[in-house]
Amino acid sequence: MLDPDLVLILNCGSSSLKFAVLDPESGKEFLCGQANALGGTTAKLVWRYRTQNETQQLARDDDYTTVIRILVDRFDRQWSELRERLLAIGHRVVHGGELFASSVLIDEEVLSAIRSCCELAPLHNPVALEGIQAALAAFPQVSQVAVFDTAFHQSMPDYAYLYALPYRLYQQHHIRRYGMHGSSHRYISERTAQLLGKPVPEINVISAHLGNGASIAAIKGGHSVDTSMGLTPLEGLVMGTRCGDLDPGLLLYLGRTLNYSLDEIEQLLNWESGMTGLSELSNDCRALEQAAEGGHTGARLALEVFCYRLAKYIAAYTIPLHQVTALVFTGGIGENSAWVRTRTTDWLNGHAYQLDPALNEKIRFGAEGRISRQNTPEVLVIPTREEWVIARDAAQLVRGAA
Ligand code: ADP
Repeated sequence: MLDPDLVLILNCGSSSLKFAVLDPESGKEFLCGQANALGGTTAKLVWRYRTQNETQQLARDDDYTTVIRILVDRFDRQWSELRERLLAIGHRVVHGGELFASSVLIDEEVLSAIRSCCELAPLHNPVALEGIQAALAAFPQVSQVAVFDTAFHQSMPDYAYLYALPYRLYQQHHIRRYGMHGSSHRYISERTAQLLGKPVPEINVISAHLGNGASIAAIKGGHSVDTSMGLTPLEGLVMGTRCGDLDPGLLLYLGRTLNYSLDEIEQLLNWESGMTGLSELSNDCRALEQAAEGGHTGARLALEVFCYRLAKYIAAYTIPLHQVTALVFTGGIGENSAWVRTRTTDWLNGHAYQLDPALNEKIRFGAEGRISRQNTPEVLVIPTREEWVIARDAAQLVRGAA
């Protein structure tokens, strides 16, 4: 029998559970899949094992615990060669508050600390906890590790993470900016160093993670010094359905003048805003690009606001970084949309960014590399590998504890 060498990654989101089995050394993926639309009538489990794609329908009341039981059953019957090789389970946890600046082996103390961060991420941390509890019960022999989205940004200085609110709100209730997408931004910083052949401590990176959720980070010598998401993932860039930055007075106006309830405001800002709200069409960047080309005014406007806001953040992050070694695009939009990359850097002509149109067209759909002209500031595209970061942390912690 082979020594255990693989990591199972579990990522419990607000209505999905993503999973994968990876080799933490090479990043090779042996299994990946997800349970989608949990709690709905169209809930299903889809996965790819070896070269086979498969699907299993789920019942409406199947929750995270049930899905993990189904996975255990598959590991016993169909994926047993992987089960025997499981070294660790790595859990993605969105919010670690100020309690976690790095990944940790899970024990009772860690569980209660994650529980204490639930108020900061009510849509995410409770489901991550449910996933962890179910995995602890299902795989009692395998060590488990929590990897936090917020941890990488714990290096931000106080002038970047504090809101200009009464200081006691920070002291008593931990109200401050935390930032998310930490595993992605960390990967981008490390991979940029590799691609440029420089040590991480010597490079300063602006990492733009543009997916349905979007955030940008200023990373100085491998340490996050500022990022666009705040106490929650609502702050910062325009996103698929989230508003990003807005005037907090607007919330008072919605409540007082337009009689919105708190639940209605939460729904509006999280699910009905961003590119969906502006375009009145879709949250999907690809669909919006097609519609804009066809003359759809709302789609064009949504994309323009998205790129303009992004360009403003990129320009702002030259402040903490002084010298920027590279601007990097990642996430579904960053990795694939030549249009968004062009429009954003067009706004930044004052910063001398110049894309090479042929490279910008070419480096898409999983490709990696430079898209700026020779002798102009580096602009790179790097497909993000958040699962690999989780797998590496999990393997390192488990091996270190052995
Ligand atoms: P999530 O945050 O859900 O992980 P992704 O990183 O998968 O999201 O990014 C999803 C976004 O990427 C969607 O807006 C989608 O339209 C966009 N995207 C994917 N492929 C393309 C493409 N070829 N052109 C433009 N946008 C794309």
